[in-house]
Amino acid sequence: MSEVSPAAPRRRAVPVAVGGVSVGGDAPIVVQSMTNTDTADIEGTAAQVAALARAGSEIVRITVDRAEAAAAVPHIRDRLARLGVGVPLVGDFHYIGHKLLAEHPACAEALDKYRINPGNVGFREKRDRQFGQMIEMALRHDRPVRIGVNWGSLDQELLTRLMDENAKAPAPKSARAVTHEAIVQSALLSAERAREIGLGADRIILSAKVSQVQDLIAVYAELARRCDYALHLGLTEAGMGSKGIVASTAAMAVLLQQGIGDTIRVSLTPLPGGDRTEEVRVAQELLQSMGLRAFVPVVTACPGCGRTTSTVFQELARDIQDFVRTQMPAWRETYPGVEALNLAVMGCIVNGPGESKHADIGISLPGTGESPAAPVFIDGEKVATLRGPAIAEDFKAMVLDYIDRRFGPAGRDAAE
Ligand code: SF4
Repeated sequence: MSEVSPAAPRRRAVPVAVGGVSVGGDAPIVVQSMTNTDTADIEGTAAQVAALARAGSEIVRITVDRAEAAAAVPHIRDRLARLGVGVPLVGDFHYIGHKLLAEHPACAEALDKYRINPGNVGFREKRDRQFGQMIEMALRHDRPVRIGVNWGSLDQELLTRLMDENAKAPAPKSARAVTHEAIVQSALLSAERAREIGLGADRIILSAKVSQVQDLIAVYAELARRCDYALHLGLTEAGMGSKGIVASTAAMAVLLQQGIGDTIRVSLTPLPGGDRTEEVRVAQELLQSMGLRAFVPVVTACPGCGRTTSTVFQELARDIQDFVRTQMPAWRETYPGVEALNLAVMGCIVNGPGESKHADIGISLPGTGESPAAPVFIDGEKVATLRGPAIAEDFKAMVLDYIDRRFGPAGRDAAE
């Protein structure tokens, strides 16, 4: 059998400090998210930032679209400090960012990074001046920036110029290829301009978001080839539910496998009243399933089939998954390293014992017609057989006991 290729070594990007979080260099790939509250709503925004941070978002972006929002930012920072949340905050600026940062120095100081979209920082002669003013603010407050190109707001003058040049070329490229080039150039030229003004490469992160999978892969591959700035990955307007998750995963997995990407965001459209933290979970699951980071213990569960017609197996799989998720904040403190744990919940004898043996701790439930017994395997050995109505509770107790022995103080001492 041919061997599975591991991910390519990470492209070596210039490291950037965003608050207390490192992006690029040798730092792990960072998970980001963005609020969808009105930033002028201090309570609501602080609560959502806290929820995103507690879900595992390591950097949170908030919209700063008007004076009321800019005025609220330092209060949000204070509120978060009182909640014990120190997650770096990024201000997302469009059109009037230069003005807001200049007129609200407390906002500029409370933010850990400024996101600048070169496509809507101003037009014609105003563009360079206003972009320059934002970079000056970053220098004054010693903050990094993300130069975030988005093809929905791509610099139209640049695109038009490249289209015109292409039309006169002996072998014109497709309009799509020229658009890719305009996106890449918009990011690189803006970074060059920021460098001329005095911003170091260790203060610049680039992104070039598009909404189609193949375009994202092409644009980032080119960007990665032409610079060593840290790169923020994300498929913009990915969509809702499974469509958004699959499209984001398909695009980012290809790039991550090539070693491209220093920080990621999964831009999901939440269902009305839905949970904003879903985008954090998906980003974590993407990185963890690729073996690039570990955030929570993995629960391997078979899909179930006609051999296990009862719902006991599905209920136990869900129960264990929820148990792990809810316990994780506390476990992170008490059991360092527990995120590397592998659990298995399997539906019947066909693959159950085999898969359970590969996990650190696994259970194989009885399928239809099998004897009502559930063998439990720890570190590849069968250690117990559970029976009766309390299988779920008994298995959870065994999981806890295993975690305590392996990741608790006694386990750590033994490992040293
Ligand atoms: S382990 Fe058993 S129940 Fe699960 S999918 Fe395989 S055959 Fe079906």
